[in-house]
Amino acid sequence: MSPLPSVDAVLRLPDMALLVAEHGRSAVVDAVRSVLAMHRENRDKSRPQDAAIEAEVADLLSERAAPALRPVFNLTGTVLHTNLGRALLSEAAVEHAAMAMRQPCALEYDLETVGRGDRDTIIESILCELTGAEAATVVNNNAAAVLLVLAALAARREVVVSRGELVEIGGSFRIPDVMRSAQVKLVEVGTTNRTHARDYASAVGPKTAALMKVHASNYRVTGFTAAVSEAEVAAIAHGHGLPMITDLGAGSLIDMAALGLPKEPLVRDAIADGADVVTFSGDKLMGGPQAGLIVGRKDLIAKIRKHPLKRALRVSKITLAALEATLLAYRKPDLLVRDLPTLRLLSRQPDELRAVANRIQMPLAKALSADWTVSITDVSSQVGSGALPDEAIPSIALSVKPRAKTGKALGLLADRLRGLPKPVIGRIADGALLLDLRCLEDEAGFVAQLEHLA
Ligand SMILES: *Cc1c(COP(=O)(O)O)cnc(C)c1O
Repeated sequence: MSPLPSVDAVLRLPDMALLVAEHGRSAVVDAVRSVLAMHRENRDKSRPQDAAIEAEVADLLSERAAPALRPVFNLTGTVLHTNLGRALLSEAAVEHAAMAMRQPCALEYDLETVGRGDRDTIIESILCELTGAEAATVVNNNAAAVLLVLAALAARREVVVSRGELVEIGGSFRIPDVMRSAQVKLVEVGTTNRTHARDYASAVGPKTAALMKVHASNYRVTGFTAAVSEAEVAAIAHGHGLPMITDLGAGSLIDMAALGLPKEPLVRDAIADGADVVTFSGDKLMGGPQAGLIVGRKDLIAKIRKHPLKRALRVSKITLAALEATLLAYRKPDLLVRDLPTLRLLSRQPDELRAVANRIQMPLAKALSADWTVSITDVSSQVGSGALPDEAIPSIALSVKPRAKTGKALGLLADRLRGLPKPVIGRIADGALLLDLRCLEDEAGFVAQLEHLA
């Protein structure tokens, strides 16, 4: 076999100048070296053509330049899918975040007094307006918010929580572990299924720093149960001169039931019921960027803001910009369902989804071979991100089934859909691959890439 060309010889090939213009010289040289090294190892093969080497270098360069974070079609039926990035942001939020990335912005700069400002002021007044709270601050996510609140208000002291609320949220957020990280002693009261007001009252002692309620979002205790309401826990706390903390999780800013959706606690109600500090997520029902919102009493928020962890957990200007634009959308309540993708997707009606199904059923059936049937079926979507799994939202899916029963067929079909240029993620249930259409808005993009399925 004739020797392989040198790196320099490959770099002189006609297509290389274009690659250098696109990737820069050093990346191209690295790729050429990698390709030549690969051929040197495969000694048995004959010398590759120059054109083949060029093509391999080009492929390797595009592979190396491709981001790992890729857009997908979320047809799982779970609208706020944590593994697929939770809330989609409004166009206004995307634009405002882009502004903050492209241009200098008055992040911590008071344009009136020309003094140093606090980045919290960007969102504080609107958060107070939307929740009825006196003050507000924001950190990286709700897990961080709970950690910071506990560390700032209760370190080396005790916090009382019902045994029915010692929850684990997906992704290793567990209330007892967060308490330990904040150096707070957890005092459990009541039992798994029943907790009474007297349980809270008798747990209060000289070391108690606060009473806490955690919204047990992702599971429900049914049967012989008793829980103490927010207002009652607050009254007990206040009777002892203590603050009451509530971790709402998804915490909505509007009444979901008015949109025909499963009821979720409102942040405003928690404040009205007497909670002194409430934490909730920015990228769950609120429909904004990942963030942990903390609203409540002015003196407590001031203490929280002064804690050193606040600086460690603070949000970026990108997050703040997206958050501000999201909150501003709530000043136009009539347009929320149009403007916030999370609420828009959650409130799509089965009729609309059936029309989508009718339009794409044939293109999908054609793109798959005759070995498959594609039918339209009623399914249930979920809110996701800790909302109750049994509070289903009626939806429509395309159900793809193999004509012949073969064990692995569905898994292989799921692989093929995930292998598309923009991967399609469905779910397998009852012997079918279900593509829930609730979150499919780009029908044209979906249909256009079906040719790659063959
Ligand atoms: C989701 C959730 C959290 C965690 O919030 P992140 O924003 O994911 O960090 C904490 N507590 C409750 C009750 C939740 O539902």
